[in-house]
Order: sequence, then structure tokens, then C-alpha cells
Amino acid sequence: MKKDYVLPSLNEARKRNKESSQKLSFSLDGKYIGLGENKKYYIITHGCQANQRDSETMAGLLEAMGYAMCDDEKQADVIIINTCAVRQGAEEKVLGEVGALKRLKNDHPDLIIGIGGCMAQEEKSVNLILEKYRQVDIIFGTHNITSLPKLLYEVIHTRKRRVEVFSKMGEVIEEVPVTRFMSHKAWVNIMYGCDKFCSYCIVPYTRGKERSRHREDILREVEELVEQGYKEVCLLGQNVNAYGKDLKEDYTFGNLLNDVAKTGIRRIRFMTSHPWDFDDSMILAIKNNSNIMPYIHLPIQSGNSEVLKKMNRRYSREEYLALYDKLKRELPGFAFTTDIIVGFPNESDGAFEDTLSAVRHCEYDNAFTFIYSKREGTPAAMMDDNVDRKTKEERLQKLNELVAYYANRNNQKYKDRIVEVLVDGFSKRNSSVYSGYTPENKLVNFTGRNVKIGDLVKVRITEVMSFSLNGEMVE
Ligand code: SAM
Ligand code: SF4
Repeated sequence: MKKDYVLPSLNEARKRNKESSQKLSFSLDGKYIGLGENKKYYIITHGCQANQRDSETMAGLLEAMGYAMCDDEKQADVIIINTCAVRQGAEEKVLGEVGALKRLKNDHPDLIIGIGGCMAQEEKSVNLILEKYRQVDIIFGTHNITSLPKLLYEVIHTRKRRVEVFSKMGEVIEEVPVTRFMSHKAWVNIMYGCDKFCSYCIVPYTRGKERSRHREDILREVEELVEQGYKEVCLLGQNVNAYGKDLKEDYTFGNLLNDVAKTGIRRIRFMTSHPWDFDDSMILAIKNNSNIMPYIHLPIQSGNSEVLKKMNRRYSREEYLALYDKLKRELPGFAFTTDIIVGFPNESDGAFEDTLSAVRHCEYDNAFTFIYSKREGTPAAMMDDNVDRKTKEERLQKLNELVAYYANRNNQKYKDRIVEVLVDGFSKRNSSVYSGYTPENKLVNFTGRNVKIGDLVKVRITEVMSFSLNGEMVE
């Protein structure tokens, strides 16, 4: 059968050009408005914060078409799964979910199922879905989110499945509708894509080249959020501190931090900063603005220089630790977290020991730890994945124990302290137990009265665990 779509290509996605990205303005074609009248949608989101923000865009587009959100997939007329491709496990989970939707589709043949996100950018996953998961009606890539209304329209009118996945994207699209899932904290994209090409990572292929948004658009978005009563923004990018490099305007992430701080938003966070791009202007901006939160996520990935070189991380163990020590010195009282991969090809016992010793040196507040997962199409996939599963698992466990030890030790200093908590919600089991985060991004569960989501409250810490704190409200 003749295909009327082009499959994604990781080879194409790998290519980069020096052209600056073009800014486009989105507007929804009138023929899509009302298509979702009296219909409901349900979105399942996997993966990182970028995906969470993308799901908010999908929701915004669907609501602009007239669809209403629902929280039960059985009620939905449209189900979208926003996927992650960073590790094999995440992909398998999605395939399990899609498999389970088959029955729902049999019961409701008009149900439309869409697959978006990073898996949709991978040739092999798209082929697999097309072949084995007939229940899927739409496959759309990370560069094709704004085509969702058009694809839905086509499926509704032709009952044929639609695939739209661009392998490359040189544009930044503004004015896209958004339905934010929280009313007090907001994700704000400041740039898209990644040009770092760490050898293990699929993200530069699935999310394309680095494209920064213009500062006026970012600042307008934050100002609007302040007006709407938002208390916190998290500036998002795969490498937030590479911000602006592609715009060639001599305006760095440090400059942007200063300007976002001036909007008066109560709390500013950012994710993720790459050690290679951590410059002094950024440190100065963090120091000079009290609404930039005292928390830095600084992925190390490995504590061994040889492994780091093979990972193409652009820094050695010594360079990372020197930067880390400088940040600790310059930013006292800050919390630090990291990402670590164990079992990268050729990681010897000695190399793993170097990772443990780096953790001992840095005494992180927390670490997100992963077993290396081979990603087809990346340079590391050509290396022999020669650390056996059992060793990988043993290393992960040992690492997690060490991380938990320092996390617990760091948290001890919070005992009996009074901290400020931005309230996220309350326990389903006990409506007098609330939860939220301190400026250092510590999760706090606390008792109190008459507390609302989005309140900033003072809490006395009564009990300390490795990854959370318990307390009681004091005012
Ligand atoms: N851009 C961010 C950075 O460089 O820190 C990280 C983005 S990635 C979605 C989040 C984390 O997933 C990475 O920091 C890395 O530790 C982990 N990761 C990425 N590719 C992986 C792979 N192939 N196997 C295991 N973990 C991986
Ligand atoms: Fe992946 Fe490295 Fe880019 Fe982070 S910096 S998204 S780990 S390639």
C-alpha cells in the first residue's frame, strides 16, 4: 500500500546548520474551531519537564478546538500519549499503555488515539507502532505539535491514520495556546533542542537543534504569569545556560535571569544547566537576585574523566569538581542535585569508584541515577554495551545508598528550622496534611489549617527523612 507520509530519520535529525531560527506566529484555522464541541480529551505524559510543558500546549490546542479535559480515559473521545525516548524502559511502558488501549478502542471505535513526543521522532518506534498497534490513529513529532488540530480534523473526516513527523525544525513558534495544569507554578520554555550531542543521548535527535526564544516573548510570558497570580516559574531548556548563543545578540542566560528577576515573580527556578556553559554572569545573576531560588541541578553523569570523554560531556572530573567547589563557595546555603549514569560502555570498577568518590566530594542533596540504556542512532550505541546487567544493578544500588546517605545528612540541618513552603496540594488520605517545596527544592509534608494551593506558608520542620521533611505550619 502506498504511504502518504514520510517517516522520521535520526540521520536527518543529526544534521545542523548555522542559520538562526525563524520566529513564526501560530493562529488556529477557523475550520478546526468547534470540532471538539461536547467531546473530551485525556493526555498521558511521560518524561521530562519539556514534555510536561508540551502536554500543556496540546491541551491548549485541544481546548481551542472545543474539547474539554477529562480525568478518565474511558470518558475520552481523544487520548494523547506524550512519550519519552531517553531510556528503553520509558518506551516499553508506552507500548504497554498503547497495547492496553486496544480494548477501549474496540468498545468505542470513534475514539481517536494519538502518539506524540520523543518516541514519535524515532524511525524504529514509528515503524513498530504502524505495524503492530493498529489502534493508533495519529503519530506526531515534537516538531509537529501545532499540527494536532489539522491531524485530528483529517482523521475525523477520512478515518485514515495520519503521521506527521518532521526530522528537523528551524523555527520557534509563538502565540500557541496553552492550558497550564497548575495555577501557581508554571513551566516557561526559554529554548528548544540541544546541540551538545552527549554520546549516549537521543535528545539532540528527537528535539532538534538549539533554538532560543526571543527575550521579549519570554519576559512577556513571565509578566502575564505574575499578573495571573503565579508564584513560581521554572525556565526550561535542555541546556538553559546555552540560552541566546544561537541568537547572536550578546545576551546570555545571566542577562535573562536578571530580567526575569525584575518581573517580580516570587520564585525562579531553571532546568537544566550544563557545567560547560556555567559562566560567571550566571553566578552573579543568581547572587544578586533573591527571587532566584537557592537550588542548582548540575548533572555530572560520571566521576571518571575517561568515561566523561567517551560520553562527550566536554569536561573532565577535575573541571567539574572545580566548578562545583566554586559554586559552593560563591553560593552558600544552596542545595545541589545531579544526574548520574552507571554502566556506560567500558565503565570499569575503578571508573565507578571515581563516581562514588565524586559523590562523596560533592555531598549532593539528591541525585537522579540511571542505568545506561543503549539508544539506537547515538554514537554510544556503536560501543560494546559490555557491563553486565547484574554489575549495573549492583552499582546503581551502591550509588543510591551513598546518595541517600548524603541526602539524609544534608537534611538534618533543617530539623527545628522554620522554612518557607510554596503549597502544591494536600494529601488525599488526610486533608490536614499539605505538601510543597522550600526554596532549596526540599519536599515538605506538613500539618496546618485553611491552607490553599499556591500559598507561601511558614513551616517548622519536626522530622527529617532522606528525601522529604515533615513539619507543622507556624502561622
Ligand atoms: N539536558 C540535561 C542534561 O544534560 O543534564 C538532561 C536531559 S536527559 C532527559 C536527563 C538525564 O537522563 C540525563 O542527564 C542523563 O543522566 C539521563 N540519560 C540520558 N540518556 C540516557 C541513556 N541513554 N541511558 C541512561 N540515562 C540517560
Ligand atoms: Fe542529552 Fe547531553 Fe543534550 Fe543533556 S546535554 S539533552 S544529556 S545531549
